[in-house]
Amino acid sequence: MGETPTIILKSGKDQSLKRFHPWVFSGAIKKIKGDVYEGQIVRVVSNHDEFLGLGHYQIGSIAVRILSFEETIIDDSFWFNKLKKAIQFREKMGLLNFFHTNVLRLVHAEGDGLPGLIIDYYNGTAVLQMHSVGMFENRNVIVECLKKILGNKLTAIYDKSENTLPFKAKIEPKNEYLLGERSEIVVKENDLQFTINWEEGQKTGFFIDQRENRKLVETYSNNRKVLNMFCYTGGFSAYALRGGASFVHSVDSSQNAINQTDTNISLNFENGRHKSFCTDAFSYLDNMDESYDLIILDPPAFAKHNDVLHNALQGYKRLNFKAFTKIKKGGVLFTFSCSQVVSKENFRKSVFVAAANAGREVKILHQLSQPPDHPVNIFHPEGEYLKGLVLHVE
Ligand code: SAH
Repeated sequence: MGETPTIILKSGKDQSLKRFHPWVFSGAIKKIKGDVYEGQIVRVVSNHDEFLGLGHYQIGSIAVRILSFEETIIDDSFWFNKLKKAIQFREKMGLLNFFHTNVLRLVHAEGDGLPGLIIDYYNGTAVLQMHSVGMFENRNVIVECLKKILGNKLTAIYDKSENTLPFKAKIEPKNEYLLGERSEIVVKENDLQFTINWEEGQKTGFFIDQRENRKLVETYSNNRKVLNMFCYTGGFSAYALRGGASFVHSVDSSQNAINQTDTNISLNFENGRHKSFCTDAFSYLDNMDESYDLIILDPPAFAKHNDVLHNALQGYKRLNFKAFTKIKKGGVLFTFSCSQVVSKENFRKSVFVAAANAGREVKILHQLSQPPDHPVNIFHPEGEYLKGLVLHVE
């Protein structure tokens, strides 16, 4: 192995790293010493040659993702310790006892000091999503570590990085099993059952991050007429039914999502109180009557990049406005944004404008975020992506 290449930052560009922010932007780089290729470990130093961190190099706007702010050797035991720490943290938080819930996020990228790596766990199967070339190149050691740490709790590992890695990188990722094979998996989340299709589903197959917010929906559902908009696999719908909703309508524009919702509902409940509709959310809201008194709006990320932020905010305004005009008096609205580039303040402002335009009196009952298996590194506020408001509408 050659010497670790060194990245020298421009004067003044060391501040964010000194405050443990784990990204080095390409514009902050003054000079690179040594030959560097994508995915390689690099040392980052200040303009005065002070050591700042070690991380994975990548071509793009985020040039380095820091793995360690201390001088260390990044070898197999480094990976083992990092992964063990992430998993032990969840154990200590009581998230790994599997009695009521056996689906959770094991590694949440920067939130666990492992930028570029997501690992979700579905009752025996770990689904990996790598967002950096460096992580991808370490997938074999990651697999070995997971086997050691999880032992017989692990039966399969599926790598689903084909669409999450930079497409220009000179690697050819394909979605594949790195351990075990495909199986029909039913998971339990707070004792409700869900089938998961990580191979074809969105993200790693399930929106694990809504677990606690779904539980809150359950507590508001008794005797309510519920509309679960953007239902995907029907998570919120199942909790609303268990909470005593008089009926639940689930809407999604994808037929696959509707099929999964129907399967999941019938796994848990006798038919009767649930109906699903495969259609566009905006036209459904325009054409529906005014009978719902609990509405959930959990749309896909309207903005993936800063340059489309304005359009995204307009999207949230339009969507929430429609719900505000239609929800029954005394109704409860759960409204979410999972766009990382939309801040809590911006999201709240959009919802505020929608409420004002609809002329409704609105109280904020809860402000929601993501659960502890999706922790936010306090030095990396960008990791706080899920925002929600629970609103009482007069
Ligand atoms: N609430 C879900 C996650 C929602 S993901 C959960 O808890 O699991 C977003 C969903 O919105 C996807 O299933 C996608 O198919 C659906 N979707 C995207 N655009 C839509 C539109 N215009 N109308 C209805 N559904 C849409």
